[in-house]
This record gives sequence, C-alpha cells and structure tokens, in this order.
Amino acid sequence: MRCTLNHLNSEDLAHEFRTDVLQIRVDRSITAPRDLPAGELETWLNGFARTLSEAVRLASARLLGIDQREISATVRGRLFGYPEVILYDSVAGGAGYCQILINRYSMRELLAAARDTLNCPADCSHSCRTCLQDYDNQLHWERLSRKPVLAWLANLLSTDQPENPFVRFKAAPMSSELVASVIHKELDRATHIVAVAPSLFDLRKNSADSEGFEGIEAAALAKKLVAWMARGNTLEVGVSQPPVVGPEYPNSLYLAKWLEPCLTDGHLKLWLLPKNFDGMVWPRLIINPGREHGYSYCSSSGLGAGFLGLPLSPQAWKGPGLGSDDLAAMRQGWQPISGKPLVAPASIVKQDYPPSAKREFGRDFGFCKDKSFDSLRVEDPFVFASRRNFDQFTRFLAELDSLWSAWPAKVEVKTRDIREARQNEMLQELQQLLAAKGSTFASHRVPSYGPGRKDFHDRRIIFQMDASNPKKRTTVLLTGGVDRYMDSKVECSLVVYHSS
Ligand SMILES: [Zn+2]
Repeated sequence: MRCTLNHLNSEDLAHEFRTDVLQIRVDRSITAPRDLPAGELETWLNGFARTLSEAVRLASARLLGIDQREISATVRGRLFGYPEVILYDSVAGGAGYCQILINRYSMRELLAAARDTLNCPADCSHSCRTCLQDYDNQLHWERLSRKPVLAWLANLLSTDQPENPFVRFKAAPMSSELVASVIHKELDRATHIVAVAPSLFDLRKNSADSEGFEGIEAAALAKKLVAWMARGNTLEVGVSQPPVVGPEYPNSLYLAKWLEPCLTDGHLKLWLLPKNFDGMVWPRLIINPGREHGYSYCSSSGLGAGFLGLPLSPQAWKGPGLGSDDLAAMRQGWQPISGKPLVAPASIVKQDYPPSAKREFGRDFGFCKDKSFDSLRVEDPFVFASRRNFDQFTRFLAELDSLWSAWPAKVEVKTRDIREARQNEMLQELQQLLAAKGSTFASHRVPSYGPGRKDFHDRRIIFQMDASNPKKRTTVLLTGGVDRYMDSKVECSLVVYHSS
C-alpha cells in the first residue's frame, strides 16, 4: 500500500481501561538454545515470554482461587533481555486481584507456583490442556512451550538470592532510582504515614548545599509535607532523639517554624522510640497503616540520617502494608514526645516570600532602625559573582542606610574567590563606597578551587553592636543570599535572630 499522506495521524489502536496492574520484573536474561537458527530467534523468544506470562497468569488464578478468565497477562522485554510480565484484572475497574496477590504472596511464591503450572502431569512435549492451554490463550497455543521456561524458572528459584532481611514483611528489593522519589509519590495517595528515623532532621551548623542554609531536600520535603498535612492527612514520626531547635543550628529554626503549626494541630505526631527499638528490623515507612492499599518500605542500610533529609535509605525493599499484629509489635513502647519540641525561641522571626512578593525591607531589617553597629559582616559566596549580584548588594547597603543611624565602623565580606579581574574591580568599588561613608572594609575570599579550597555555603549577615561583646549580635539567614532577597521575582526566605 502506498501512503499518500504527508503527515501522520495518530490512530488509537489501544484500548485503555483502568485496572490494577502488577508488573513482575525478573532480572535474569533468557538464553536461547545454541543450535537455534538465527532466523528463528525472535519467534522462540516470543514463545518463551508468552509461556512465562501464561504460566504466571494461571498460577495467580490458582493461588487466588478465581476463574482464569478474571485475570489477564501480557509480557514485554526489557534491557538485556530481562522479561517483564504484567498481570491485570480482566474486569474493567479491577477487582483488586493484583493487590490481593502481592499482599498474600511473595514473588518467590508466585514464581514457584508458575513453575508448578509448567510441570505438566501429562508430561506433554510443548503445551496441552492439562497444563497451559485454556480458552483465552487459544491464539498462542502454537507458541507455548513449557520445557525451556520450566528449566529457566527452576534454575532461577534454585539460586540463593541475597538474603532478604525483610522476607517476613513480604518485601521485595526496589531499584535505587525509585527510592529517592518514594515519599513524594506516596504523598499523592497516602492519608497517613508512619516513619521511623534517628531524628526528624539533621542538625547542620553550616549548610552543605548551594541554595540555602536549611538543606534543600529537607526544606522541600518539609514544605510538601506541611501542605499535605494541611489537607487533613497525618504524619507520625518515631525518632530516637527529640528534635533540637536552636540558633546554633540555623536549619533547625527554619524547619521548626514550618512544622510547628502541624504539631499544634495534631497532624504531625512525634514519638520517642524505645531504647531497644531496632530500626534495621522494622519498616522505615508505612503508608496508610492498617488500611487497604497500604505499603511498607524497609531499608537494609543504617539509620544514618534525619527523616526530612532522607526518608528512605537507598537500599530499600517494598512490601504490602503490615498486619495489625506486626504494626502493634512495631509500635510497642513508643512514647509521645511531650511539651513543644518544635518551638523556636520567640526572638526568632522567619519570613517566606513566594515568587513576585514585594520585600518588606523595613520590617525584616526593622531592628536596625536608628541603631548603629560596630561591625557588619556579610557571608555570601556570590555577592561578587557577577555585576548584577554586586549591584543588588550595593542596593541592599543603601536600604540599610535608610534605617541605621550611622554606617558601621567596619564592614567585612566573606565571599568566594572567583579569581577574575572583574571581582577585584568590584571589591575596589565597594572599598571606595565604604571609605566615603567612613567605614573600613575587609574582604575574606575563599578559594573555590585549588589549594585552600573550602566548601563555603553560608549566606548570613551578622550585625554586631559592640566589638567588646561579640556574642551580642543579630544574625540574618537568607536562602539564596542577598541577590535573591533583593530580587523580588524569585522566592526567598529569611530568619532573623538576636543573641546576647
Ligand atoms: Zn501439558
């Protein structure tokens, strides 16, 4: 047939219906017989895959005690020839068979049942009505060949798998790329999550990321969780140490300010785990505990990080929800954390600006009004990174000038050394500007590469009243630094605290 169209219309050849689906991926390639003529390889592989999917389908129906017609299967090849069998309910809307299957049986049990299906009592050569053939797979009878698949499955099941520490929860290993997004995905459908972690968040004296002081993953997750809890959902976190909130850990102030309202309204519950709680034995995350369509996630790596920074460690296993007995045993001895563990000192003020929100400079830096400072110290890796950033910085100083009664005796800037003539020009310019105001200027440039290179991510501004009492000062933490604060197009947060 000759095609006369010069563009293609996509035609929908697929019928789509919503149902439960179970993907079964086996990380073992299918090896064809060596004497197979090259031209027959594809047909042989198709027959193998179809036989496997039919065996899994018939075994599933038998395990579930349902009619074979109520469950369908299809198959596809993955990289390296690894097969993937997809089971789904034949009934539109789904009867939930796939879910029941994973709740009741492990993958090994399912594949063993498929192997048994292939062990034909009539010992047929390829397939027969005793083993594989049924009304629904008539179309494939010619291609079904049980013996190669039987040998493959028997071999697969005989190999010692790496010990599964979570076999009693029927958990199967997860691919590592899925682990990182687990909590974000589950938030779309979960109404209740129980988590276990050493702490709610890690304490950071200095942040180790480039966007802000609070740890970008932890802050992003905290914000998402707060929105999720505001919709009426519940998060419970069992921790081995109660949260520590204080100005020596800037990120703790920020996270506490976010989460504290959820704790007050009861959507966030914090529990202290008993001393003998073994985090390696129990799931780290339980989605919708005690309800249908629940899941549990376990991890075989250590409990090394706070929940908000790493809700699930990379080596993870996923299983169905825990039974009520297991759940009760897991939660035995959990003590509610009393008091107000997430209240930051009252002197701490946090402001969050969404994108395009006008900055209220007079409010945020109101503590400068009619005051004079002995020194102003700005720590920001990027104030001299570009002419634009530098202009934002001088605008920032001009705003301060409209508040304070006099320029500080000393202005210090700690920034990243980008070793460019441009940066020297800007430094000189700043020095002249400050000299005209009667301030001395000192710069501390941190090499960004080569010897002496240090990771330097702080973005803070320290106002010191009195050189003889360095502890009495006001510190302003800025996500993204001065340039983000001065650019009202982007979002920005700041935390102001006074110490004495
Ligand atoms: Zn047979």
